[in-house]
Amino acid sequence: MSSLFQGATGDWEVVIGLEIHAQVISESKLFSGASTKFGAEPNTQVSFVCAAMPGMLPVINEECVRQAVRTGLAMGCQINLRSVFDRKNYFYADLPQGYQISQFKDPIVGEGMLTVELEDGSTKDIGIERLHLEQDAGKSMHDQHPNMTYVDLNRSGVALMEIVSKPDMRSAEEAGAYFRKIRSLVRYAGTCDGNMDQGSMRADVNVSVRRPGQELGIRTETKNVNSIRYMMMVIESETRRQVDVLEAGGTINQETRLFEVATGTTRTMRSKEEAHDYRYFPDPDLLPLEFTQELVDELAAQMPELADAKKARFIKDLHINAYNAGVLVAEKESADYFETLLSATVEKSGKAVSEVGTLVSNWVTGDLFGALKKLGLGINQSPVSIAHAAELITLQIDGTISGRIAKEVFENMLESGKSPETIVEEKGLRQVSDTGEIEAMIDQILAANADKVEEYRGGKDKLYGFFVGQVMKNTGGKANPQVVNKLLRQKLDG
Ligand code: ADP
Ligand code: MG
Repeated sequence: MSSLFQGATGDWEVVIGLEIHAQVISESKLFSGASTKFGAEPNTQVSFVCAAMPGMLPVINEECVRQAVRTGLAMGCQINLRSVFDRKNYFYADLPQGYQISQFKDPIVGEGMLTVELEDGSTKDIGIERLHLEQDAGKSMHDQHPNMTYVDLNRSGVALMEIVSKPDMRSAEEAGAYFRKIRSLVRYAGTCDGNMDQGSMRADVNVSVRRPGQELGIRTETKNVNSIRYMMMVIESETRRQVDVLEAGGTINQETRLFEVATGTTRTMRSKEEAHDYRYFPDPDLLPLEFTQELVDELAAQMPELADAKKARFIKDLHINAYNAGVLVAEKESADYFETLLSATVEKSGKAVSEVGTLVSNWVTGDLFGALKKLGLGINQSPVSIAHAAELITLQIDGTISGRIAKEVFENMLESGKSPETIVEEKGLRQVSDTGEIEAMIDQILAANADKVEEYRGGKDKLYGFFVGQVMKNTGGKANPQVVNKLLRQKLDG
């Protein structure tokens, strides 16, 4: 797929590299025992280490190390058995140490490659440069007092994974797909909750443009973008701005930029001349981080099933079509929901998973997702319980109601909250499968429409639908379609 940008003087290629910051799921911080729980009162989760009291020594939290390794494994990257923590020196009010402990030359996770799927069905390989562990800073609060800034150190020292891509993306769509893929992987691996609105994941977006086939252009870096939609806006507005500058004969400054939601564009934050010299050096308070291949193997053996493997299993074992399988595994929550509903349905109906997989997947991706979208709800806020959903699908499997009636019952469930069995009883929606009853009705209809029967037998095939329609009309849509078809064929053709 070509994704060139058409400028006034010809085509330009957009080049994008992302640095994704993902907050590690762990009880406590990277180098202290203070809690990481979100939403606590300011400065209630601050140890002496997080507050940088003199003489306090950092002690590495082993769980954060395991989480970084799990993430590296999930992304299929090289795991480095030896890595080094460096001090990245800069001054900021919410950084009491005056430096951030990070990893620079020797990160815990090295290179890898991710394959992302694009909307047109094609795939694209995107290289990963590294993943390193680092501490988060505190938070400056400018809105608490008219002329003072307050500092909340709860976040100070929380473990972050910075995942750096190679400059391999060529469009906003590819960058979006890559970000979603990483978010899905960390959620499946249980290493980051991926909640962008709580700041658990954010991206620095590097963008440059060049003439196709030329050397890489000069990039700008837009910091701390906290939604995928914003990220795509950054890429689009930066592309347009850079092309305009270059086509007017100007040059791009290598600089850090900020995204402004109000305008949907970016503005200069600081230029390269003002760029920090961080004076990285190995932190003398910490030994190099070393672990064995056995630890890596142990973590690999315990890894949960990830999206791609789950998708393949859904297709192979459950006979679900590739499209639906892709939709279901895209978010861990929907995959979990589907699998829970599938086992509940298997239990309730007594059928095998392979027999009900398609029906359950069609219901979840079609009926349920459609309803949730209309209601503006997420999968975990579904107004219909798993038990009720399994009951509804089972009523369809055992022939109590038809697929069409099932949709009607579901509508009613959403409104009333009643169980599907109750609704079917109350409204008399039970499907008529009684052969005798249907046969008598068909005889009646054929007798009353003798002229049409003759026309049909004379070759007017289209009239078949008319007879089916009559039976359905007489039963209020409740006749079992299979029984109706079988009997009609017998009587008309036989
Ligand atoms: P820095 O600390 O200077 O931001 P990093 O190595 O941490 O450097 O990250 C650089 C990021 O910028 C990577 O994601 C990389 O892929 C990307 N990048 C490098 N050169 C370019 C370029 N010319 N255009 C777009 N992105 C680039
Ligand atoms: Mg950077």
